Amino acid sequence: MSTITQNLQAVTENIVAAAREAGRAPDSVQLLAVSKTFGADAVLQAAQAGQRAFGENYVQEGVDKVAAVAQALPGLGLAEAALAWHFIGPIQSNKTRPIASHFDWVHTVERAKIAQRLSEQRPPERGPLNICLQVNISGEASKSGVAPQEVAALARQVVDLPNLRLRGLMAIPEPEDDFARQRAAFAALRQLFDSLRADGLELDTLSMGMSADMRAAIVEGATIVRVGSAIFGARHYNKESI
Ligand SMILES: *Cc1c(COP(=O)(O)O)cnc(C)c1O
Repeated sequence: MSTITQNLQAVTENIVAAAREAGRAPDSVQLLAVSKTFGADAVLQAAQAGQRAFGENYVQEGVDKVAAVAQALPGLGLAEAALAWHFIGPIQSNKTRPIASHFDWVHTVERAKIAQRLSEQRPPERGPLNICLQVNISGEASKSGVAPQEVAALARQVVDLPNLRLRGLMAIPEPEDDFARQRAAFAALRQLFDSLRADGLELDTLSMGMSADMRAAIVEGATIVRVGSAIFGARHYNKESI
């Protein structure tokens, strides 16, 4: 068995254990395999092991990988549509078109202008683009994401856009070793999510938790955990990929 296959099994077991611990159904938590900096071969290995959702952070790297993987999928007996691609990186407004064209989900919408462009540039035949709003839950000035008190207004703007489907919220809290502190940040995002739903928005997605803090995220209600290094190993960045 390949390392990726073994890692996927271990991560899946951890997800199931955390869900049980929280009294949640294990299949209420989806694993997004974050393949940034890894090649199409790594994605194909994971796909062969049954993984179907992949996350990318950098536009050009992601678009190239989507195309390379699509070419090779029939060789594994899989249709191109078998995989879902999620964009989870920062978005510059001049890069919205390839994102709208090649991805199924975007987790990192933090401005109405970006949402508008994604909606305008979404190819109609691909159906609505699934959207999560990224929230700056830890509150540092340097961090990406919309401020918690501005999420409701942004959500109202996004739900009105014809080619987007607002699914929920996403956050990347400050790294924390302490389990209780990890939980506190995720709980804050969940409370925001609950309040938007109480206001009538039909949201079903809480994208939170990574390799180091996914147990806390699942205990607090994550429906998508974004896991990279625990599946693919340590990342080696090079400038070209950014
Ligand atoms: C890289 C990345 C991840 C995965 O991080 P790991 O610590 O490798 O699991 C998750 N979410 C986002 C937004 C990322 O950029």
